[in-house]
Amino acid sequence: MSNSFRIILTGAPAAGKGTISKLIIKTFDFVHISPGDILRQNIRSNTKLGKEAKKFIDEGKLVPDKVVSDILKKRLLELKQKSIILDGYPRTLKQAETLKEWICVDAVLNLIVPHEEIIRRAKNRWIHLPSGRVYNIGFSEPKVPGKDDVTGEDLVQRDDDKPEVLKKRLQIYDKIMNPVLNFYAKQKLLTHFEPKCDETMWQKVEKFMMKLVCGKD
Ligand code: AMP
Repeated sequence: MSNSFRIILTGAPAAGKGTISKLIIKTFDFVHISPGDILRQNIRSNTKLGKEAKKFIDEGKLVPDKVVSDILKKRLLELKQKSIILDGYPRTLKQAETLKEWICVDAVLNLIVPHEEIIRRAKNRWIHLPSGRVYNIGFSEPKVPGKDDVTGEDLVQRDDDKPEVLKKRLQIYDKIMNPVLNFYAKQKLLTHFEPKCDETMWQKVEKFMMKLVCGKD
């Protein structure tokens, strides 16, 4: 059995990929790679890449494949032997094909959450931009409303979490991800996670990961 694993986490924007990723990292010693986080860091630092990406992100559009794939390749090379979670990549069939040339994927975990629920959650999501820490009104609130727990700095809402931008992102997501999911379904790598009322998303994912990583049911 290989010691390192490469998994892809898919799911519509704000479906909880960030939260599930954190739990996988903590429980199974994975490293998280999110092109969205890397792009936002570049926007904050006002780099050339950040300026280019901002135009697309603010409109709820995908950043061109070449830009995102270059970022990802660099990060994969840095993390060679580590177990990794890809969160937010691939988002197009072209990206999935490119990724296949670079690494062997062990599993694709697709989180299924209804659109109405996603829009409701995004309205309650607040971010500390410099660190990327995320708070959710209702279940992971900051100690002081509107302030980051660690630095005390202001929390903000992501421009692309606003309902009108998010609705557009959800439409684009469904359209472009179908071919990507089919690509992995054909390779028998795809598993859907849609929790019913008596089970949380994490309980389902944890069970699956136990089996993948430790060989346990
Ligand atoms: P996320 O935080 O993953 O929702 O990403 C935020 C934004 O970054 C997306 O709406 C896209 O504009 C851009 N982005 C992130 N990942 C990708 C990707 N794999 N391909 C193209 N654009 C991406």
